[in-house]
Amino acid sequence: MAEFSGIIAGGGLVGLTLALALHQKGIKASVYEAVKKIKPLGVGINLLPHSVQNLAKLGLLEEIEKVAIKTSSLAYYTEDGKVIWREPRGLEAGYDVPQFSIHRGDFHMILLNAARERLGPENIITGHHFSSFDQDADGVTAHFTDRQTAEPKGSARGDFLIGADGINSQLRHIFYPNEGPPKYSGQMLWRGVTEMEPFLDGRSMFMAGHNDLKLVAYPIRAESMRRGKSYINWIAERRIPSDLAARAADWNETGLLTDFKPYFENWDLGWLDIGKLFDKALSIHKFPMVDRDPLPKWSFGRVTLMGDAAHAMYPNGSNGVSQGVLDAMTFADLLDGATDIEATLTAYEEARREATAKISLANRQTGPELVMQMVKDQCPGTCGEVHSCIPQATLEEVATAYKKLAGFDKQTLNAVK
Ligand SMILES: Cc1cc2nc3c(=O)[nH]c(=O)nc-3n(C[C@H](O)[C@H](O)[C@H](O)COP(=O)(O)OP(=O)(O)OC[C@H]3O[C@@H](n4cnc5c(N)ncnc54)[C@H](O)[C@@H]3O)c2cc1C
Repeated sequence: MAEFSGIIAGGGLVGLTLALALHQKGIKASVYEAVKKIKPLGVGINLLPHSVQNLAKLGLLEEIEKVAIKTSSLAYYTEDGKVIWREPRGLEAGYDVPQFSIHRGDFHMILLNAARERLGPENIITGHHFSSFDQDADGVTAHFTDRQTAEPKGSARGDFLIGADGINSQLRHIFYPNEGPPKYSGQMLWRGVTEMEPFLDGRSMFMAGHNDLKLVAYPIRAESMRRGKSYINWIAERRIPSDLAARAADWNETGLLTDFKPYFENWDLGWLDIGKLFDKALSIHKFPMVDRDPLPKWSFGRVTLMGDAAHAMYPNGSNGVSQGVLDAMTFADLLDGATDIEATLTAYEEARREATAKISLANRQTGPELVMQMVKDQCPGTCGEVHSCIPQATLEEVATAYKKLAGFDKQTLNAVK
């Protein structure tokens, strides 16, 4: 059997998941990460059951369970607190595995610790910004620089190179030099975390509002719940239809309360103090809702794209990281026992490119959150506590169609062993 070794550019969530998935198959890989020290950055993300199923296969479930919240339900509301649609999630919905809401940094550290322990710290190499590559019949060579100084940092040789280098991927730029920056949706997101008293059952995720003004919130830390509190991740979303906003696709940009709080002044959900949620924030980041167009091709010989580098998508539907986990597991499964690298990369692209393109495009139509705008457009405002303008069957159709598209409808997923 051929013994392959790989180079992974990018030690984010997907690059590290791939490293662990390859290691489990006995395939050698080294991760090259641009930053000098990997830190627990970001705020909340969701791990949907299709990715949790795979993370369980990697033996990570126990560690995730210690820190994350097992999401019990997802509900959509109008801005005055009327329920549009509510559905159980994860175990409560009958899946074999939970859905998790987790701090991105907590998840990143779980992956990093596992990767260092299993692959050896010498295979998780930081301070190496991937800059270019050459490939020939026998292998591929990746070249690295210091991100700050642009000084060369040497090269690495392997059988394949994976670009898991995020939304501003250098590898993608090499393949598609004229693509330009990510595409701005017209929506600006202020993302924060606040520790305060729990809302609803302390494990629920909700979205309220419509396309022009929206609030999303969900708790993300088990440790806070154990103390009777809730460490709440929230996203305030407002339409700002200016191209200027797109330039700053920087996950670390700080956000200002005054830019969004006044727009939510008249909102009343009844069970959550929105003013306190914003005022007591431990941190606020500003990030434009951006994505990238689906690509016609990911794999070029021994080199391919993965995760956000391949298919950065809007957060509607909470699918970004979960799809990246599926990419990584699919690739490792296909490479296991394979003899032809290029054929494996092509098979990986066939399995994942179109599937993720469909989700990216559905997310541009707001994904499952479509129901909120449907109510905004069609409701005369006379409903009671629970919304009744749109038939439940229609709402259910939207929810089910998205789950099928994204690969986490219950029947299909529970049938996979
Ligand atoms: C700092 C940060 C904070 C984030 N916060 C959130 C959040 O709060 N909520 C959310 O939903 N999503 C967040 N994301 C994005 C989220 O992690 C991704 O959408 C998703 O998980 C897909 O993971 P990925 O590994 O493809 O990309 P990422 O997780 O973005 O990882 C890409 C990695 O590649 C590294 N990298 C970039 N260029 C190079 C290069 N040329 N050479 C080597 N390494 C390179 C980056 O430093 C990063 O570690 C954040 C990403 C980052 C980098």
